Amino acid sequence: MVCNEGQHPFAAVVSCSDSRVPVELIFDQGIGDLFVVRVAGNVCNGDEIASIEYAVEHLGTPLCLVLGHTRCGAVTTVVSGAVLDGHLAQLVQKINDAADDAWREDPSLSGDALVDAAARCNVRRGMADLVQESHIISARVDSGALQIAGAIYNLATGAVDWL
Ligand SMILES: [Zn+2]
Repeated sequence: MVCNEGQHPFAAVVSCSDSRVPVELIFDQGIGDLFVVRVAGNVCNGDEIASIEYAVEHLGTPLCLVLGHTRCGAVTTVVSGAVLDGHLAQLVQKINDAADDAWREDPSLSGDALVDAAARCNVRRGMADLVQESHIISARVDSGALQIAGAIYNLATGAVDWL
């Protein structure tokens, strides 16, 4: 199937680049259905926010989903305290804050449980960043033209847990 008649995706998604999280397959969607921004750790930095601004302003997309997942490698790297080189260090700055959130909420967490809690906090931060860092997005949320949602995809079960 091809689609050459313009696009009208019903949702924009910020998702992780992880090869086990193919967004269209997870939600059983086809060509033209989803406007997907994929970046390691599904962080909402400048380029990701700009892409969502394009979707909501120019395509009229009424729903934006920030989709994290369990056992995220980017989150695991941050939680483990690994020292990152190159562009990665900048990419994961916001995940550092999410890991701090998770640890503050439950200091008893460790290992995979901490990674998955940090992934949830990272989704919440992404949802907030989209609104707080973009007047285009926040205006549409305020007017009711745009909904922001968050979810975690469970790699082990295939389930999507909505936050
Ligand atoms: Zn990931």
